[in-house]
Amino acid sequence: MATILAIGIATIDIINHVSQFPAEDDEVRAVSQQITRGGNATNTLTVLSQLGHRCHWSGVLIDEPDSLVVRQDLEWHKIDYSSCLHLNTGKMPTSYITLNEASGSRTIVHHRDCPELPFAHFKHLDIAAFDWIHFEGRNTEELEKMLHWLRQHHPEVPCSLEVEKPRPGIEALFHLVDVLMFSRPYVKAQGFENARDFLQAQTAPGLMSCSWGEKGAWLRSGDDLAHSPVFPPEKVVDTLGAGDTFNAGLISALVNGEPPALALTLASQLAGRKCGQFGFDNLSSEQ
Ligand code: ADP
Repeated sequence: MATILAIGIATIDIINHVSQFPAEDDEVRAVSQQITRGGNATNTLTVLSQLGHRCHWSGVLIDEPDSLVVRQDLEWHKIDYSSCLHLNTGKMPTSYITLNEASGSRTIVHHRDCPELPFAHFKHLDIAAFDWIHFEGRNTEELEKMLHWLRQHHPEVPCSLEVEKPRPGIEALFHLVDVLMFSRPYVKAQGFENARDFLQAQTAPGLMSCSWGEKGAWLRSGDDLAHSPVFPPEKVVDTLGAGDTFNAGLISALVNGEPPALALTLASQLAGRKCGQFGFDNLSSEQ
């Protein structure tokens, strides 16, 4: 069991199910409503917690009524959020989603009044208490300062960076982390059509994974490039967050000292299991 810190955001998703999409200026009644916590880093932590690790989240938590959804969900998943920056003003990042049950379309209005976690907060965390630190690749300017600080003051603490989408300056972070976790949207935005070519073109020294939906995932370790096919569940019911689950599986296996090729297989198995169920709960800790 390891102690793991993740840096990133938590969001609130308010999903209204409607039988048909309303016309402008219309008033309709929702068939049902779900309010859930989202955010890649916190999703990854909910899976790591189920795998038996002690999980901590550091991000910005705004003291407003809706943040209760986030805090209750974190508590339910035994995720410690005492390392967060608490602010009295603003609004947690919130997605207002209209889900049209007739077509399956999801129309999203996003609102936030929430800064990203600053380096000034990160540098006061008790970094030596953690066995692994995972970063969501978002606010690259502040992340660059955090990673330089980490390398300089705690080079013994392994760290990973999730690279989901292109962000200005994100490439400057690649040589500062031990494990890079790429997703298909980022790779495609760089002009590559497959994970293999993309990974082989990278020059950063660390381990690198790249997940590619139903084609499975790849892991580069030095000159070795391993591939894992998907492990399909009996029935695929929900692939949302498969990447966050895959990343959790990879971190768990690596922090437990498993070799990279086995870590790739274990992460793919876990992600496959997640695709066979809704949400992130009840992913057993059989890893
Ligand atoms: P994201 O959530 O970032 O879009 P991917 O779609 O790349 O992530 O999926 C991450 C991993 O989840 C894949 O590498 C694979 O191991 C697993 N996975 C994705 N889709 C399926 C599927 N239909 N069946 C089984 N496993 C899947």
